[in-house]
Amino acid sequence: MEMEKMVQEIKAIVDAKREKFAKVSDDVWEVPELYFHEAKSADILIKALKEEGFDVQEGVDGMPTAFIGTWGSGKPIIGILGEFDALPSLSQEASICRHNELVPGGPGHGCGHNALGAGAMAAAVAAKDYMEKHGISGTIRYYGCPAEEAGWGKMFLARDGYYDDLDACYTWHPGVGNMVQGTSSLANMCAFFTFKGRTSHAAASPHLGRSALDACELMNVGVNYLREHVIPEARMHYAYQDVGGSAPNVVQDHAQLKYFIRAPKITQVKEIGERVKDIARGAALMTGTELEIYFSAGMCDYVPNDVLSGILSDALIAVGGPSFDDADRALAKEFFDSYNSNEIEAALQRLSHNYDNWEEYRTIPLVEEVAPYKKTSAYGFGSTDVGDASYAAPTAQMNVATYANGTPGHSWQVTAQVKSSITHKALVTVAEAIALATILTIQSPEKIAAAREEYVKSTGGKYICPVGMDAKPELEHV
Ligand SMILES: [Zn+2]
Repeated sequence: MEMEKMVQEIKAIVDAKREKFAKVSDDVWEVPELYFHEAKSADILIKALKEEGFDVQEGVDGMPTAFIGTWGSGKPIIGILGEFDALPSLSQEASICRHNELVPGGPGHGCGHNALGAGAMAAAVAAKDYMEKHGISGTIRYYGCPAEEAGWGKMFLARDGYYDDLDACYTWHPGVGNMVQGTSSLANMCAFFTFKGRTSHAAASPHLGRSALDACELMNVGVNYLREHVIPEARMHYAYQDVGGSAPNVVQDHAQLKYFIRAPKITQVKEIGERVKDIARGAALMTGTELEIYFSAGMCDYVPNDVLSGILSDALIAVGGPSFDDADRALAKEFFDSYNSNEIEAALQRLSHNYDNWEEYRTIPLVEEVAPYKKTSAYGFGSTDVGDASYAAPTAQMNVATYANGTPGHSWQVTAQVKSSITHKALVTVAEAIALATILTIQSPEKIAAAREEYVKSTGGKYICPVGMDAKPELEHV
């Protein structure tokens, strides 16, 4: 069928359910929950999927808030990834450009994952409706991925093989522009170093004590010297989880450090991780303490699949950017006018990867145009567990303008705008573009084969887990 007719049909399918999709996004926004505690948010999405005829497997892979909704059968299998966790301290009233916490100090959707989960669900439903109507066979699999902000649910799903049989994997993230991402993100590893020593009177009998705090300090000194001898893009940051108590006159017999180790590629992170382990062992030797090392979780770098990114980009261009109206533009302008030049420049930098005319956006509050996919060697300095999916299966992801140009990530301004008419219109575009990309993928066995071939070439064709099989999801936390 020609593209134009497909676009019109998919638009009609999404339009019939647009209010339902917006409500799911708003309902999740109303119950912001932190990583691995997203019980209410997951329930809202699960209920919506079940109503649409998806079979839902709950509590997947030992994570109570992970779930998989499946519709259809057989190959090809298309995965669509959804997230729904919130961030601490970003509670904020909706649709208003004035900082006003709804719950003082409470969590909020400052990364827009309410819309992310709902938009991905809407896409899965729209693809299913189209397949049903046309008798197209294949499987749509919606992944309810918990804990993107911390804990990193997709790493566990990837490690335990949940993405292995996917022919293609699509997702999106709220953003300032309408574009398929050709940039990578940093790989990251989280590790705990726990030292155990012996207490003693620090003045009367220091020679009998063995200090776990000294071990932590020596380890950090060692890592700070290591910085000169790793690639310049590497990042190593630490925080004390346990300083061994508050008394200077007691030799500290327990202390613990938490480390993040980041670099552009997961293989680089693993190599640096081994050297950090050696430094920790050295610190234990120097202080006569015992050491326990636990690598708890990590994230691979994101590897965009060009073949799938091309399909998704064609689909996004075909459906067009969100149909914003004057009220949306006016709301976006209020936010845009409140940002300083550094915030605007940071957003422009993100647009510059795809938009040739990115400099024009220095004065435009809301990005309505779509920019084509472009592969770049650039990477963002953040990390995302979509990277883990991209190492386990061919993956593409896009941004759709969900908030004003210049809006910084992880901010109350995001929370305010991801429950607004701007986001409701973005959700329509997300559903249309990913649903269309899904159908185009299913109908093109050659592209599926090409995407797989590229995936094998770019990642080695096998998931590289940042940590071992002993790592467990951090279900308990405050
Ligand atoms: Zn996010």
